[in-house]
Amino acid sequence: EKTTVLITGCSSGIGLGLAARLAADTARRFKVYATMRDLAKGERLLERLGGHCPDTLEVLQLDVTDPRSLAAAAQQVQGQRLDVLVCNAGVGLMGPLETCSDQAMKTIFEVNLFGAIRTIQAFLPAMKRRRAGRIIVSSSIGGLQGLPFNSVYCASKFAVEGLCESLAIVLRPFNIHLTLVECGPVNTSFLANLQRPEPEGSELQGLDAETRGLYLRYLQHCRSLFQDRAQEVEEVLQVFLEAIGTPCPPLRCVTTQLFAPLRRLRVASPDGSAYLRAMHDLVFGHGGEARH
Ligand code: NAD
Repeated sequence: EKTTVLITGCSSGIGLGLAARLAADTARRFKVYATMRDLAKGERLLERLGGHCPDTLEVLQLDVTDPRSLAAAAQQVQGQRLDVLVCNAGVGLMGPLETCSDQAMKTIFEVNLFGAIRTIQAFLPAMKRRRAGRIIVSSSIGGLQGLPFNSVYCASKFAVEGLCESLAIVLRPFNIHLTLVECGPVNTSFLANLQRPEPEGSELQGLDAETRGLYLRYLQHCRSLFQDRAQEVEEVLQVFLEAIGTPCPPLRCVTTQLFAPLRRLRVASPDGSAYLRAMHDLVFGHGGEARH
């Protein structure tokens, strides 16, 4: 019997790559429910697969911010038992905190946190009844450590980490494995899709010159980080496949060791000052304004 997998956010990036990879499995081990907000974007997935694959792929409409669309998708899948749920839909928000609008902040939390919660709520009761299942959640390095000019995004991913760590404790006796996958920079449309003030845009106009200067330096840092160090989707998919296939997947898997030294510093010095200094110097250069 096939392993059934439902994935959110399949119109691009990691979700698209994972859906295509599983649906194209040569041994046809998987039945994939690839879900997305806008079904018209399903064309990309079908193109990638060279046409319809009715026995391994079904494309469903699912907007994680819309409870009705979630209920409808769950209804369609519920007849089939669901083995693996992948909460992958996510959006970014960058910029000085002073420029983040209420609306933009709410959207980030609606998708990244409440979207993941709603999706898990929709499929958890059936998994519990069967006492089997896996939940994989796309987190981020930004869910493990604070990143400059990503405070609201990091807040949403830290929240996802707390949510999942708490939930995983209760899921143990039900034999349901929950895994957080923390990606660093990955070559997807994530950077293009995220909301951020443009360097010359009006959102930065009321901002003090010093913060604006730091933000521009951050944008440069970010650009070169993505250019030089971003992983390809195929590379991070290995981590998802491992979480789907291994008998006892861990709670957390990072896809890259790029930030391991910073993370170690953060743990070794729990008061946080060594991490702040190291991250500041990495992004903005040595010296600077933060003196102790
Ligand atoms: P992406 O922008 O290509 O994919 C995100 C997908 O989520 C898109 O297809 C988008 O349409 C979908 N989405 C957004 N709002 C939605 C909603 N309301 N309902 C359903 N789907 C919605 O970027 P990606 O890199 O593939 O991102 C996938 C996940 O990985 C996200 O959770 C992201 O936070 C995380 N991540 C990405 C990176 C990176 O550098 N690319 C780094 C760390 C974590």
